[in-house]
Amino acid sequence: MRVAVFSSKSYDRQFLEAANQGQHQLLFLEPRLDASTAIAADGAQAVCAFVNDHLDAGVLGLLAKQGVKLVALRCAGFNNVDLAAARDLGIEIARVPEYSPHSVAEHAVAMMLTLNRKIHRASARVREGNFALEGLLGFDFHGKTVGVVGTGKIGFCFIRIMTGFGCRIVAYDPHPNQECIDAGADYVELPELLKQSDIVSLHCPLTPQTHHLINEQAIASMKRGAMLINISRGGIIDTRAVIRGLKSGIIGSLGLDVYEEEDNLFFRDLSNSVIHDDVFARLLTFPNVVVTGHQAFFTQEALTEIARITLENLTRFEEHGRAAHPVSVERLAG
Ligand code: NAD
Repeated sequence: MRVAVFSSKSYDRQFLEAANQGQHQLLFLEPRLDASTAIAADGAQAVCAFVNDHLDAGVLGLLAKQGVKLVALRCAGFNNVDLAAARDLGIEIARVPEYSPHSVAEHAVAMMLTLNRKIHRASARVREGNFALEGLLGFDFHGKTVGVVGTGKIGFCFIRIMTGFGCRIVAYDPHPNQECIDAGADYVELPELLKQSDIVSLHCPLTPQTHHLINEQAIASMKRGAMLINISRGGIIDTRAVIRGLKSGIIGSLGLDVYEEEDNLFFRDLSNSVIHDDVFARLLTFPNVVVTGHQAFFTQEALTEIARITLENLTRFEEHGRAAHPVSVERLAG
């Protein structure tokens, strides 16, 4: 099958080619998929897309006109796809529901440790010959309360790591997970979680229900000085409200791997450009904020699995007319 792989980087090519073994004709395209680039899929039966590719009704319509029958997402989240439009156009949407939840959970912990022990600042200081410790004071995670919002595959991995640190876990999820209860998590409602937690980590998908879940009101109910970690999707937090929370000191530190407007920034080298997003630029001025460019998934194990499952989706669709891991429009309701 001919597959147009959008937003592809050298590492995508490396892992997808290794998994493909020449079975499908993979056409690697660097541009992001949107209305202006969809034409590049001409002649392809499938499109392989990533987190910031635009798969709204307009783009899906253009793909359908060119004969595309399958969109194989090489990620777990599918908030960037208009599922109802895909269904109406007869385009199957497939994803990689699980690759390495450890990769993402471990990145959340890396951010927590960095922020708490100020590794980003300490490392820069030492390189400047400054060995003073003022301003680098951290706290023990042991004995602290960690609030986990969303306790699916990644949330569960994260809970297991944090219980290893000796933390108390409170969790919020409309569908409690027995494995998390067995691991020691106490389920509470979201306002209670925000009130009790020294650290709040977000592991739910971006849906209409979770959009701006962490807003002005939620921040006002947080423990003063709490750490907030978002490695899920940028839209789950209201960035402007979080900036106000940082300025008032309610949010003591912030770790972001995702950002609401990241599709204008992430996955490219903009080091020679001026950043026009003033909200993002403001975030970067805080000493107690660490931002990474959507790299939580970026481990060898995760990329190997993403490539393997993406190829499984392509091959199963070609052979049986149904991908191995389809996303149906009904998922929106859940
Ligand atoms: P999952 O489907 O296993 O778990 C998601 C959990 O969130 C489910 O238990 C669900 O019930 C819960 N949830 C749904 N609505 C909620 C709400 N309103 N409040 C609280 N919880 C709610 O998914 P997962 O594999 O654990 O991934 C979670 C999210 O992590 C993905 O949707 C994706 O957005 C994000 N992610 C980020 C990266 C990255 O590189 N930064 C990589 C992979 C996944």
